[in-house]
Amino acid sequence: MSAERVVLVTGGNRGIGRAIAERFVAEGYKVAVTARSGEGPMGTLTVRADVTDSAQLDAAFLQVESTLGPVEVVVANAGITKDTLLLRMSEDDFDSVVATNLGGTFRVVKRASKGMLRARWGRVILISSVVGLLGSAGQINYSSSKAALVGFARSLTRELGARGITANVVAPGFIETDMTAELPAETQAEYKKSIPAGRFATPDEVAGVVTWLASDDAAYISGAVIPVDGGLGMGH
Ligand code: NDP
Repeated sequence: MSAERVVLVTGGNRGIGRAIAERFVAEGYKVAVTARSGEGPMGTLTVRADVTDSAQLDAAFLQVESTLGPVEVVVANAGITKDTLLLRMSEDDFDSVVATNLGGTFRVVKRASKGMLRARWGRVILISSVVGLLGSAGQINYSSSKAALVGFARSLTRELGARGITANVVAPGFIETDMTAELPAETQAEYKKSIPAGRFATPDEVAGVVTWLASDDAAYISGAVIPVDGGLGMGH
């Protein structure tokens, strides 16, 4: 069945989103990625879209729908950080992170849900973060936007659960991507000490959980938060 499903991953040109797109391709799905720059991995359809712009997203969806068919699995992955302590955080630092991480998810999932409702089948997978539930000094904007995705998925589950649509959150810990490469070496070493697994994860370790959530085996899981964090959040 999975081979016939159409997947859209936002921010699929690099990092975790790229690894997720690669996994779906390997499992035989028809895969599209949104990218502001660059291209998705081999075997994917790349469509241009900034997730803060509904018109661009609508055009991207139309392109995916006309090329591959209606989107049945959507992975809201695109995200940014603008870290600083609360007293130094500007309104723009706050608003831009929320507009991308939470607003982007709203725009993408709203658009995707139309086709899912028609098909009476869908998988909505939101990429949150361990810091959404654990909190993180210097990340009031980011952690708030990521915590909000839990309420989002649970409300969506209540709205659309009876229509064959599931909505779940994946909460990665520290994953080796450009986002964590920006952290100073001492900070990375400090974080590793607090992770029971003693290491960061590869993007592929997140991707495997996402493809599993899209599979028929996960049909009865909805409103869940699945941590992929080496024990950092102790299951939260
Ligand atoms: P990267 O910084 O490596 O990649 C971010 C991706 O999001 C890029 O493809 C980027 O596109 C895209 N993106 C950012 N803003 C927008 C926008 N406005 N419109 C469209 N695309 C956008 O991040 P990661 O791969 O590390 O992170 C992916 C997701 O996982 C994020 O939501 C992040 O918060 C989350 N996460 C990451 C963790 C980590 O340790 N790395 C831990 C927990 C969660 P472009 O190339 O054009 O900038």
